[in-house]
Amino acid sequence: MTRTQVVIVGAGPAGLLLGQLLHKEGIDTLILERRSAEYVGGRIRAGVLEQGTVDVLEHAGVASRLRSEGLVHDGVEIGFRGRRHRIDLKALTGKAVTVYGQTEVTHDLMNARAASGAPSVYEAEDVALHGLDGSSARVTYTHRGVAHEVSCDFVAGCDGFHGVSRRSIPASLLKIFERVYPFGWLGLLADVRPPWNELIYASSDRGFALASMRSPTRVRCYVQCSLDDRVENWSDEQFWDEFRRRIGEEFASQVPTVPSLEKSIAPLRSFVAEPMRYGRLFLAGDAAHIVPPTGAKGLNLAVSDVLYLYEALRGHYRERSASSLDDYSPRCLRRIWRAERFSWWMTSQLHSQPEDAFGLRMQQTELEYLFDSHAAQISMAENYVGLPF
Ligand SMILES: Cc1cc2nc3c(=O)[nH]c(=O)nc-3n(C[C@H](O)[C@H](O)[C@H](O)COP(=O)(O)OP(=O)(O)OC[C@H]3O[C@@H](n4cnc5c(N)ncnc54)[C@H](O)[C@@H]3O)c2cc1C
Repeated sequence: MTRTQVVIVGAGPAGLLLGQLLHKEGIDTLILERRSAEYVGGRIRAGVLEQGTVDVLEHAGVASRLRSEGLVHDGVEIGFRGRRHRIDLKALTGKAVTVYGQTEVTHDLMNARAASGAPSVYEAEDVALHGLDGSSARVTYTHRGVAHEVSCDFVAGCDGFHGVSRRSIPASLLKIFERVYPFGWLGLLADVRPPWNELIYASSDRGFALASMRSPTRVRCYVQCSLDDRVENWSDEQFWDEFRRRIGEEFASQVPTVPSLEKSIAPLRSFVAEPMRYGRLFLAGDAAHIVPPTGAKGLNLAVSDVLYLYEALRGHYRERSASSLDDYSPRCLRRIWRAERFSWWMTSQLHSQPEDAFGLRMQQTELEYLFDSHAAQISMAENYVGLPF
């Protein structure tokens, strides 16, 4: 039996960033991660960072590579049935977004954790949380066949949507809000110079497509697919053919057929679990909420939760402030619901559901309004660059 101040379950961006911020504050943590370090370091996911996220990574001391390699984007393009409009984020809000892959954020955080000497256990199996509503919590797990038990003041549940933390809260105390969309995204990663300078969100009569990138030599592109589709149904050639049909004439001829490094299908879901605290357990990131990736908010929300949790724990340890811990869940949820609204709006406006004729007219009207109204563009831009942390 060992003891630490905070056990962090999950070494995704939320868990690793919280560990780094608390380490800098002199608060002891143990990170328990179910997967291997190689698996965690190789996961391909998000790639658009809000300025607030960049600022938190700076504060955590893990932004030197982000500063030199991140691509600052001042605008984003929206295409609808052949018409295309650039939303000038910088001119409309004074802010920009930074393209820097979640994989790179994770590498930077894993390197900082290793350099700090703070303990992490990868391939921790059967993690279970105990005594969350008592005077001291305990976490048990198995590593390489040996059972371990750690006592702690608090548990940070940073273990994603399928983790154990949210499930450790009695169901009767949790309120769940959920919408599952009737389509998914097929994503492809490839090493090729992107023909586009900024992200293009394109809605066509064949479905949605997103032209994106992870670096000056690596593209990440998506096409809307049906929920029951499978990666095996799509050769690289078929993906690129479909992508060209959806992305618009200007880029169609410039998109080469290059082999994929990775292809995967992600379902689209909106989900919030309230509250985000149960006694000594605090949920952060995907453990508490999911957004469809259309608004590029998932990773950014995980970072704002972590900032708030770090501030709450710092308040507790420095000033013995109970209110800082009590404020955590309502403070997070205010920001989360706004990001949920924006992600739902982007998703609803850009994906096609051919059987819904009224919905199609609404999309058309909404996007024409966006293209023609300065006020609507400011609203979209301030949400896309991220509401204040
Ligand atoms: C396929 C996919 C594509 C995405 N694409 C985008 C995108 O394009 N843009 C965007 O903004 N967002 C995207 N997201 C969302 C974004 O990646 C997440 O919001 C972000 O990873 C949240 O970070 P997190 O640390 O909260 O959770 P996660 O990254 O899920 O990390 C949770 C960690 O906990 C570990 N874990 C789980 N269960 C246990 C357990 N029982 N014990 C110990 N450890 C456990 C997991 O292995 C994982 O390492 C995507 C997500 C997915 C799944």
